[in-house]
Amino acid sequence: MKCPVCWADKAYVHPVNGWKALLYHVLMIVPLKCHHCYHKFSVSWFATIGKTVHPPKVSKSQASSRRSFRGPRPRTSGGSSAKPNPAGRAKAYARRG
Ligand SMILES: [Zn+2]
Repeated sequence: MKCPVCWADKAYVHPVNGWKALLYHVLMIVPLKCHHCYHKFSVSWFATIGKTVHPPKVSKSQASSRRSFRGPRPRTSGGSSAKPNPAGRAKAYARRG
């Protein structure tokens, strides 16, 4: 669907929740959001016939690369040796005098 602001063909269905979703449903209006300029607008359901209102599906390889882009997850499990022991250090200082 074309965006009325930037005319990019990147406006797709924007999910809404609560009473707004009901209102859109009753009025047969489709909420859309431009993925180019983030302009939010709504059009009649009839205007979406034959138009692309759903974003293209991301292939599996692209999805995995996106996940790796976030970076590796910090490891929660690991030896306690990596963490410095503040209590032990304080003891050492106390011993030194
Ligand atoms: Zn736009």
